[in-house]
Amino acid sequence: MSDSNQYSKPATLCATALGVTGASGGLAPSINMATTFEGYAQDGTNSDRPYQYTRSGNPGLSEAENLITALEQGQDSLLFASGMASAIGVFMALEPGSHVIIEHIMYWSLRNWLLSEGKKMGLEVSIIANGNQPELEATLIPGKTALVWIETPANPTWMITDIEKTASIVHAAGALLCVDSTVATPILTKPLTLGADLVMHSATKYLNGHSDVLGGTLITGRDDEYWQRIRANRTSYGSVLGTFEAWLLLRGMRTLPIRVKAACDNAMAIAKHFENHPRISSVQYPGLASHPGHDIAARQMTGGFGGMMSIRLTGGRSEAARVARETRLFMQATSLGGVESLIEHRGPVEGPDSPVPDDLLRLSIGIEDVDDLIEDLERVL
Ligand code: PLP
Repeated sequence: MSDSNQYSKPATLCATALGVTGASGGLAPSINMATTFEGYAQDGTNSDRPYQYTRSGNPGLSEAENLITALEQGQDSLLFASGMASAIGVFMALEPGSHVIIEHIMYWSLRNWLLSEGKKMGLEVSIIANGNQPELEATLIPGKTALVWIETPANPTWMITDIEKTASIVHAAGALLCVDSTVATPILTKPLTLGADLVMHSATKYLNGHSDVLGGTLITGRDDEYWQRIRANRTSYGSVLGTFEAWLLLRGMRTLPIRVKAACDNAMAIAKHFENHPRISSVQYPGLASHPGHDIAARQMTGGFGGMMSIRLTGGRSEAARVARETRLFMQATSLGGVESLIEHRGPVEGPDSPVPDDLLRLSIGIEDVDDLIEDLERVL
């Protein structure tokens, strides 16, 4: 087995997958589909056998989790059956009656879950404007606010929240900060190094990158009692990622840095090309100086501004629907972070309660030739 443990740069961590070669010496890790493991000491002694039953973990899961932990410079990580399962795992492990704070623009399914099921299970949920620090300070209740949840860049307007400043405000009130960093990926931002307590990713997106795995992950900076509750809940609910999905995810992550770089380069070129287009009223991309979060993003994101952007059309809702239907290379589909470019008319997807304007198209920029992507949009516009 090659010894890649001495390396820490993301490209090397990913390409080598931390030196996983399997017992045979094969250059791809073995897939061990076992659901139960022999020799685990049932009385708690002799625990040199780490795996007992696959609902609490297995070798393939650990291989993928170890790489994610290293990329985020965390202490530990857990893989879940979806991004939503991992996000909900954060809230389910809080004490009943806890107060939590979320931001206005965020992944809509999680906001909906918090405002319906989360409230039913006793969570008190406050919503503040993205990145508004005075409002955050005024909303925090020391001794009662347990957790603040931010998403940066935030889906689908890509608002940016300053992680470092937010962490210091949140910690002063005795609460925890969790960052949904799905869009930034660990290649562009490492929230734990900026003071966050937990990081979440929908691994369905960039981490896997090939639109063929549903998964989620949480990474912690501290293996404490709260983290152990999150882990124990994952075992109890069985919300763990499947073994084959973990193998596919590890395979996908081996090319994460070059996929993210290609998507960032394409996105920047497309954003600049369409910034002053007569049929577009605004291009929302943190890499553009016109974006309200640009300065913070330039500090907080290293190596690029991500592969996600939105455009608003001067022709309104019907024009947005037409453009989404008529592109050929951009496929009309939900989700993001794959190698292929996607277009989505986001407002109708989120429904009448959504804060998203109905003339907005969300673009997930892939790794195709950028001239072909620009031509596809130009033709339809
Ligand atoms: N967070 C963000 C930013 C997302 O875009 C998504 C899914 O689109 C999720 C969380 C939920 O992830 P999943 O679909 O893997 O459950």
